Amino acid sequence: MTIVNETYDVIIVGGGGAGQRAALETASSGANVALISKVFPTRSHTVSAQGGINAALGNIDKGDSWECHMFDTIRGSDYLGDQDSIEYMCSQASRTVIELEHMGMPFSRNEDGTIYQRAFGGQTLDFGKGGQAHRTCPAADRTGHAMLHTLFQQNVKAKTRFFHEWFAIDLLKSGPQKVSGILAMCLETGELRVFHAKAVVLATGGAGRIYASTTNAYSCTGDGLGMVYRAGFPLQDMEMWQFHPTGVAGVGCLITEGARGEGGILRNSEGERYMERYAPIQKDLACRDVVSRSSALEMKAGRGCGPRGDYMHLDLTHLPQETLQERLPGISDLARTFANVDVSKEPIPVVPTCHYMMGGIPTNKYGQVLTQDKLGKDTFVEGLYAAGECACVSVHGANRLGANSLLEIVVFGRAVGHHINDHIGDIAHEKNAEFDASLEKALGRVGFWRQGGGGESIDEVIQDMKKIMQEDFGVFRDGKNMQEGLAKLDVVRRRLAHASISDKSLAFNTRLVSAFELENMMAVAYTTAMAALARKESRGAHSRVDFPDRDDKNWHKHSLAFEGDRASTRAVNMQPNHVDPFPLQEREH
Ligand SMILES: Cc1cc2nc3c(=O)[nH]c(=O)nc-3n(C[C@H](O)[C@H](O)[C@H](O)COP(=O)(O)OP(=O)(O)OC[C@H]3O[C@@H](n4cnc5c(N)ncnc54)[C@H](O)[C@@H]3O)c2cc1C
Repeated sequence: MTIVNETYDVIIVGGGGAGQRAALETASSGANVALISKVFPTRSHTVSAQGGINAALGNIDKGDSWECHMFDTIRGSDYLGDQDSIEYMCSQASRTVIELEHMGMPFSRNEDGTIYQRAFGGQTLDFGKGGQAHRTCPAADRTGHAMLHTLFQQNVKAKTRFFHEWFAIDLLKSGPQKVSGILAMCLETGELRVFHAKAVVLATGGAGRIYASTTNAYSCTGDGLGMVYRAGFPLQDMEMWQFHPTGVAGVGCLITEGARGEGGILRNSEGERYMERYAPIQKDLACRDVVSRSSALEMKAGRGCGPRGDYMHLDLTHLPQETLQERLPGISDLARTFANVDVSKEPIPVVPTCHYMMGGIPTNKYGQVLTQDKLGKDTFVEGLYAAGECACVSVHGANRLGANSLLEIVVFGRAVGHHINDHIGDIAHEKNAEFDASLEKALGRVGFWRQGGGGESIDEVIQDMKKIMQEDFGVFRDGKNMQEGLAKLDVVRRRLAHASISDKSLAFNTRLVSAFELENMMAVAYTTAMAALARKESRGAHSRVDFPDRDDKNWHKHSLAFEGDRASTRAVNMQPNHVDPFPLQEREH
């Protein structure tokens, strides 16, 4: 098959909030930009974000400040977040939300016309001393939908070139630390194409699909992480996965934290509001890691609900009808459709469910992808950027605060765009022997799946991987189980080298896409397992039964995982640029 070559200034892989915000910034300043997305852009997972986006606008709490938002984010991260990045995100939050409002995003409103703000977990006033903050800006409970459609309209106006339903397969390198393009496949025709670019931006979203039970869309398979891993660059903090306390039991789809922000209460089989015991101050609005662990402990103690005691109740029955209709219409629908529950009359059965990947592709606050030389020194990968959930810039550290991710994707999507606009003049398109060699390697992978045959089906491999992740790398972890889990996972990943797909057709070959996605998920799962076993402490979402305490002396650092099972670490950046650092402290709830 002849391969067409196309050349752009910027290639963006991903049409979610991060990819579209980066595309808008670069396209509207005149760059020649192509955005590649395996799903139609407005179907990216961002569309399902419910609760809102954080910014200390102070519309409800008059004295609120971005510095306070910064403190909450650092504390929520269990001090693993990089303080320069968190400072940048929180200080940019208000102008970013106003900018979205001016682009036409239909936020919910207060009586006086300002943007409504609701309570969300882990948000406080006066640096933890002033009680619950109202900092989360919603568009009812369909905030991601409103955001993504707003950004799409702006991109159409800015003449971003969209490649809908194209699948990015691999990065193409023109040097050991330089990326100059990607290989992608058109899903409709099976055509392969080489996209040359001065800058490649990965905005491929999360990877929750490595777990058996997740709130994430089918498309969240960690493709950008797989590409980076195969290119020899590291993944960071992969042990840090957030379990959301309120996924609908047995289904996985999410009931937003906004439901508790509007007054919803978690109850056990005895009807007790158990969060009062675990987090006397923040109660149901404690950080997600705390609430998820509390629910798991309640079920373990035999106070779970239902015949098998395997879920908890989220009670909204005491909320006024107007609140349910105006602020929570989406989740009322969801509960009816997936749990057959009328939220005004009965509680919703909920269970902690894999929700968000705090780790990812390490970047600095401009979105430049970082790698590490053999001496442990940080260096940049020229021409490669990452933003959004696939990146680890690290604003969430060991635990993300609700509504900080929609903020992250627009703040750092724009930051990447700025950096590219400022530097694109210095970068050249590059096509050399190394580029040809990396194309050859990528085509080899395509050939393996298209021409190979006879091995076991990929379906078995996928199911076994998900089961191991769910059982051995969930809310609570312990060394023995993880050791066994890692050994089982090693066997499963070796099976992948002999697996095959039976569909060899070119048009809409969804099996081939699943095979590529599985390779990417396996990289994510294996690095998660390795990093989780290695981190011998409990911090944020990483909770070890055999090491229950945080160990700042040995583990206040990021973990790095490279292909070939090589591990390393990076220091946490504790040095903001404009305010004093927030020193390590105990986390209180
Ligand atoms: C149910 C749910 C509710 C949430 N609610 C909130 C909330 O209220 N507030 C909040 O702050 N956060 C929320 N989050 C988290 C937040 O929505 C996500 O972290 C964020 O939207 C991710 O955006 P993104 O742009 O990084 O990726 P995504 O929106 O996931 O987009 C990824 C893009 O990459 C493309 N892509 C991936 N792989 C490839 C490939 N190989 N080739 C081509 N294209 C590819 C996809 O097509 C897609 O366009 C929620 C998450 C979920 C799952």
